Amino acid sequence: MKQNLKTSVIGSYPIRVDTLDLIYDYFSCIESSWERYIEQAVHDMTEAGISFVSDGQTRDPFIQLFTRHLNGCRIRQRTEIIGPISYHHPITVADQIYARQLLPPKIGLIGILTGPYTLMRSSVDSFYYDEKQLCFDFATALHSEAENLQNHVDVISIDEPCFSNELPEYAAEVLRTVTAGLSCSTRLHVCGDVSRIIPELVDMPVDILSHEFKASPFLFRVFEQYPNKKKMCIGAVRSDDVTIEPVDEIVKHVQKALDIFGENVVQIAPDCGQRMLPRQIAFRKLQHLAIAGGRINGG
Ligand SMILES: [Zn+2]
Repeated sequence: MKQNLKTSVIGSYPIRVDTLDLIYDYFSCIESSWERYIEQAVHDMTEAGISFVSDGQTRDPFIQLFTRHLNGCRIRQRTEIIGPISYHHPITVADQIYARQLLPPKIGLIGILTGPYTLMRSSVDSFYYDEKQLCFDFATALHSEAENLQNHVDVISIDEPCFSNELPEYAAEVLRTVTAGLSCSTRLHVCGDVSRIIPELVDMPVDILSHEFKASPFLFRVFEQYPNKKKMCIGAVRSDDVTIEPVDEIVKHVQKALDIFGENVVQIAPDCGQRMLPRQIAFRKLQHLAIAGGRINGG
C-alpha cells in the first residue's frame, strides 16, 4: 500500500544564539532581530527534506516563550504568577508569519504552544493558590493565541511534557479550552513514558497524538491494547542521543508503527524537540528521517 507519511518536527532546533550581539543591541537600544535565527532553523529543516517544519523555537525557552508575554506573569529564574493570567497580544504569530515566508512551496508549518498544564507546573504561583484555576486561565490565554495562529500554520501542536508525570483529571477539559473551534488540525505532544495514561490520551480533544516511540518502543505494545482512532505522529529518531539512526533502522521502526496503527500514522518525527543536540547531529537525524519517509512512501 502506498503511504503518504509526512515528516515533521516537534519544535525546538539547536541554533546557537549570539548573546554578544544581543547585549550590543540591548545597550544600543536596538530591538534585536530574531529573523536570522528563524532563517537558520527553517533552512536546516527544509534542506533536510522535512515536510512540516517549525520556526525552531530559538527565541526563548519553551515556558518563558509564552509567560513573558502574558499578563499576570513575572519572569525571574522561573516564571512567577503575580496576578490573573490574561492574553494581551499575539506571542508567536509574527515569527510564524516570517517562517512561512521562507518556506518552499508545499512545505507545511507547525505552530507550537506549550500546554496549559506544563505552563502551570513550571511556574511558581504567588497569586492563585488554585492549580486548576491557574491552568484554565493559561488555557484561555493559549486559546486566544491559537485563534490568532491558525490562519498562518497548518498544524497547531500542544506540547504537554508534564502529562507523563501526572495527568490531571481535568486534562481533556483543559485541552478542549485550548482547541475549541479551531479550524486547523491539532496535535498533542507528550514525551516521556506515557504507558499509564494511554486510555486517556486516545480520547483527548486533538487530531494527532505525538509520543517518543523511539526511546520508548514498549509504547507500541501498550497502545495495541486500547482501541484508538487517533492519527499518530511517531517518534522515530531519538532527541536525547547523538547516535544518528541509520535509514534502514528508521524504516523498520516506522513499519512496526504502520502494522499497529495502519493509515492513522500520518507523521514521523524526532521523539522530542532537538534543542539539546549539536546542530550537525540534529540536521543529519532529520535528513535520515526524511529519506526513510520517502522510502516508505514509495519514492
Ligand atoms: Zn517532548
